[in-house]
Order: sequence, then structure tokens, then C-alpha cells
Amino acid sequence: MVEIRNISSFEDVVIIPNSLIVIDIDDTLIKYSQFNQSWWINKIQHYHTLTKNYELAEHLANEEWNKHIETCEPEIVDKYIHDFIDMAKSNDCHIVLLTARNDIIRELTKKHLLEVNLYFEHIYFNKDKGTELVKIVETDYAGIYKNIIVIDDMEKNLLNIRNKMNLSKYELQLYKITREIV
Ligand SMILES: [Mg+2]
Repeated sequence: MVEIRNISSFEDVVIIPNSLIVIDIDDTLIKYSQFNQSWWINKIQHYHTLTKNYELAEHLANEEWNKHIETCEPEIVDKYIHDFIDMAKSNDCHIVLLTARNDIIRELTKKHLLEVNLYFEHIYFNKDKGTELVKIVETDYAGIYKNIIVIDDMEKNLLNIRNKMNLSKYELQLYKITREIV
């Protein structure tokens, strides 16, 4: 069984040469001070009271977030990230981003990443990260990488990935980066 390792910084990730490194965006790379954990909890609660439907409440909270982050300034979660990227590159690793964000905010996402000096050629948008990662390694990077390193702040994403990846074919390293509790 592949363990999920808890880390508090990118500094704690063991870079295995020739790996595909898959990184989440929100609360892993960037964050917005206005939208912390309590914002989400309150919003979802608010919409749940109105709709009595958890999935719908989550969707409505997400729509509100999509609309509002446009005017927000992103902040970097971990100041070590730029060194990590350099180190990964010098170890022949390739980095892609995998986010549960909606594809409609693709351009805004790129813009916000650039504002904190982060540029990535490949960003994948899918709430179902397990299914998406299987597709990524089987199509875009077919036969290239055996080692896959995944860094995300949400355990459910890492579990989804662990469930769907073919573990006899890939060496999977899963890292859960600590979420800031505000
Ligand atoms: Mg996240």
C-alpha cells in the first residue's frame, strides 16, 4: 500500500530523478487571504441551509469563489517552491499542475500564477483527479515516466489517485501538504 506522507513544506519532498511531478494549485501553491477555511465552511453552510443539498451548496460556493478571486491577490503558500522547481528540473523531472478548479477560469489561473512568478506549461483541470491523472500518464506521457510524485493539500484527492492508478505499473509517491487552519 502506498503511504500518504504528511509534509509542511516542499522542502520535505524527496525528488526522485526522472519523475513526473503533479502539483495541486489551491492551498498547495497559492492561496487568497480572503478565502480561508472558515470562508468555505460558512459559505457551504449558508447554501446548504438554503438548498438542503450538499452538492449544490458546494457548487454555489464554488461559483461565488470563481467570481470573486478575479479581484483578489494570490499569495504563495510555501516560499521554498521556486527552489523546489529548480531542483526538480535539474533532476530531469517534469512538473504539471492538476487542479479541481473549473476550466472556465483557466486564463485567470495562469495570470495569478504568473503574479507570484510561477509558470507551468501544462495545467489540467478536473475535479476527479484520479481519473485525470490516469489519462495524463496513459496518453500525454505514455511510456515516459514510471515515478509519479503527487503533492496536494487534500487527502481525498490523494486517495482518489491511489485508488485509480495502476500501482503495478507506476511508482507512486503521495504527499499531503499541511493546510493552514484559520
Ligand atoms: Mg488544494
